[in-house]
Amino acid sequence: MRIDLDQDRCVASGQCVLAAPDAFDQREEDGIAVLLVEEPPAGAEEDVRQAATVCPALAIRLAE
Ligand code: SF4
Repeated sequence: MRIDLDQDRCVASGQCVLAAPDAFDQREEDGIAVLLVEEPPAGAEEDVRQAATVCPALAIRLAE
């Protein structure tokens, strides 16, 4: 799985960090999400799917 994060769409809600803290963090200055890994480790994929589902800005796309 590859994660594509569109920071231009991100509204800094933090939902992705709550759902998948191993894959997402937020910039301190404005809360915009940043990717920690482009390919989540085994075991984190379900969390990343959940993050993409709950993102209110549809800023997270996944390529399986
Ligand atoms: S859930 Fe979406 S809008 Fe919220 S911080 Fe993450 S990428 Fe940004």
